[in-house]
Amino acid sequence: MKILLIAGHGGTPYDPGAAGCGYTEAVETRRMANAVAPLLRAYGFDVQLYDQSKDAYKVVTQGGSLPLTGVGYVLEFHLNAAANDLSGNGVTTGTEIFVHTNEQGVKVEQAILRRIAALGFKNRGVKRSSGLAVLKHVFNRGVSHALVETCFIDDRDDMNLYGAKFDAIARAIADGVAEGFGVTVQEPEKEDDEMVEKKTVAIDGKDYTCSCIEKAGENYMRLRDLTQAGYGITYDAKTKTPGIVAPQTRTEIVENDEVQAAVGKIQEACGLEEQTMEYLLRYRYGDDLVKKIAAAVG
Ligand SMILES: [Zn+2]
Repeated sequence: MKILLIAGHGGTPYDPGAAGCGYTEAVETRRMANAVAPLLRAYGFDVQLYDQSKDAYKVVTQGGSLPLTGVGYVLEFHLNAAANDLSGNGVTTGTEIFVHTNEQGVKVEQAILRRIAALGFKNRGVKRSSGLAVLKHVFNRGVSHALVETCFIDDRDDMNLYGAKFDAIARAIADGVAEGFGVTVQEPEKEDDEMVEKKTVAIDGKDYTCSCIEKAGENYMRLRDLTQAGYGITYDAKTKTPGIVAPQTRTEIVENDEVQAAVGKIQEACGLEEQTMEYLLRYRYGDDLVKKIAAAVG
């Protein structure tokens, strides 16, 4: 099916549409149409972008017509205004979609709204109108039209979310269109963070709450949970080897004359290897231990 994407406003003389929170409607509607187009194409739709140097509203109100040959569905993008919440009150004003008063089904529009709302926007529902110029022009030529008011440009909460979730909104719109027209939606894989499970793990005889991930049959545990249990995470830059040091050990060996003398005494008295002494010295209190043994062997 052929879908025409229209970005609201723009044209000559330039109509920026509404503005707020550092955004301009005409710019954002083009950005959204351009983001949605490839996603719809990936679903197999034949997508046509309406000439973005033009303002469809001006064209139809001045007696012109839109290129609708073979088009089965039109999506027109806008940003709403009049929320008047530039400092942000903690809640979004939200998303709404207009269809023609006499439009039959609104399955596609409901699917889009549900998916955008899942990102945190208030769902203002599908609204009907016969007075919107572009919508009227398209519907009267026998093509279904949906005017998406993505969110409110003068609502700080809406635009913060819009800025953070722009790609996800484009995805929600494309997925909603696909769902509404019965195309199998490619649901994204869950992110790792969503698969993290807090589990009680016994480390060195004591229970710790650790973040565990099971992915493709492998079990992972966050390294920082090991440090909580007293383990040290090391990285040898020379050999590029990460390492884990048990709670009772350390990576830096204390070396001074006193310790060296004690080491020499023990090796002589007990015939211990260099490696064995190093092992003892890596114990957290190794230097004290070595001095005590040296004193005991006299
Ligand atoms: Zn507008």
